[in-house]
Amino acid sequence: MSTQETRTRIVWDYAPAPESPDHVRLRDSYGLFVNGEFADPKDGTRVPSISPSTEEPVAEVAFAGPEDVRGAIAAARAAQPGWAALSGLERGKYLFRVARLIQERAREMAVVESMDGGKPIRESRDVDVPLAAAHFFHYAGWADKLSYGLAGREAAPLGVAAQIVPWNFPLLMAAWKLAPALACGNTAVLKPAETTPLSALLLAEICQEAELPPGVVQVLPGDGATGAALVRADGIDKVAFTGSTAVGKDIQAALAGTGTSLTLELGGKSANVVFEDAALDQAVEGIVNGIFFNQGHVCCAGSRLLIQESVADVVIGKLWERMGRLRVGDPLDKNTDVGAINSAEQLERIEALVAAGEEEGALRRTVACELPERGWWFAPTIFTEVAPAHRIAVEEIFGPVVSVMTFRTQAEAIEKANNSTYGLAAGIWTDKGSKAFEVASALEAGVVWQNTYNKFDPTAAFGGYKESGFGREGGPAGLRHYVRLS
Ligand code: NAD
Repeated sequence: MSTQETRTRIVWDYAPAPESPDHVRLRDSYGLFVNGEFADPKDGTRVPSISPSTEEPVAEVAFAGPEDVRGAIAAARAAQPGWAALSGLERGKYLFRVARLIQERAREMAVVESMDGGKPIRESRDVDVPLAAAHFFHYAGWADKLSYGLAGREAAPLGVAAQIVPWNFPLLMAAWKLAPALACGNTAVLKPAETTPLSALLLAEICQEAELPPGVVQVLPGDGATGAALVRADGIDKVAFTGSTAVGKDIQAALAGTGTSLTLELGGKSANVVFEDAALDQAVEGIVNGIFFNQGHVCCAGSRLLIQESVADVVIGKLWERMGRLRVGDPLDKNTDVGAINSAEQLERIEALVAAGEEEGALRRTVACELPERGWWFAPTIFTEVAPAHRIAVEEIFGPVVSVMTFRTQAEAIEKANNSTYGLAAGIWTDKGSKAFEVASALEAGVVWQNTYNKFDPTAAFGGYKESGFGREGGPAGLRHYVRLS
């Protein structure tokens, strides 16, 4: 059963407030970043990077072939002993420089991130770019204090790290990967996602500006074939992967028995649990942030909303009202809350799962709003009357779609929240501190937020349980996966 309801009337209108892209210094075409230089691909191709909000090319990018992958690994390997031989203090200075240069070019990087990936400028400006700089600052501080972060143990770098990131937080995920690897004395080959390579290439420019020794960081844009070649290539000591569970399993199988160190940050179907004693208006803001932030393209999105039955109608009513006020459209407009869906393929995946939700009998409500004619868009959507076995309650939609279920008791809330193959994150909304601690300890999730959601900090470890992966990124815990302890 499905209904399309009229959008709640907005009492005032916003004038457009677009961020200007005039100051952006994008090249027409980017090579691969290897050994400190941008170079033409040897056996790769050149592909336009398309803006999901206009369907226009933003810039052309080289995709690496197998020979390019081998060359990048050789450069990283050659540079690694020299990089590791620097004192931690010296490595830290380079990381500080990278962090400062990200800050200096923050406005430009935010615009490029929104043009290339479709996320609202408000988020790339206020979340992605500042957090990326903060990660480099954080690990710059650890570089000369590694043993303090590793319980007093002496540590040696692993060597060359192959790092593969997805398209939802392109710059931030690159920072999560590169900063700890470099702080520990490893060199890196980073592969950005095929739809969002540009901010990683700007980061490569920043590595040049920071005079990072050649070969310490390589950036190889490419698709799944490039990623598959990279993880299977000789000369890799560590693979750090963020992306889907299916690809994570494939990488794990490929590396089994090779001795290559592996960390996986995979998908999620995180539960956001609202108890009847919560501050409900605050909870509604947290639900909105939990699922509509970055169009729901968030691994830890609060996509399974569990509401205590006694307040379910009130919360759903308030949520629907609030959803009607979300502004969907141009990612470069500073008023925009929900931007473009990252690619036509992702839009298809969202539409297919939403259709499955309707077929299985859940009640769909999508806010009616004017969507731009070009580009890929999906309006905020809520499903109620969802059963735990429905696909929309089980599978990651990775879009602005929330599935609502109810519970009566605390025990039932915990059971339903844990009823998932994933275990990345969770949220708890309650006024009772003791209840929050009790529930948090019982939830199988790497991160549990209380009375907030989607809060990230470089000092805090992030990572999953079950099919959400293993290993932690952020904080001193993030160092552990880039060293060999003696
Ligand atoms: P994806 O797995 O398709 O791609 C991720 C990256 O892997 C891309 O760079 C891609 O080119 C590369 N890749 C694809 N096939 C590969 C292969 N066979 N071998 C090696 N590399 C390959 O995922 P996606 O659709 O780009 O990203 C969305 C997924 O990422 C979601 O499931 C989301 O939950 C997850 N994610 C997890 C986290 C986390 O921290 N846990 C963060 C962000 C996104």
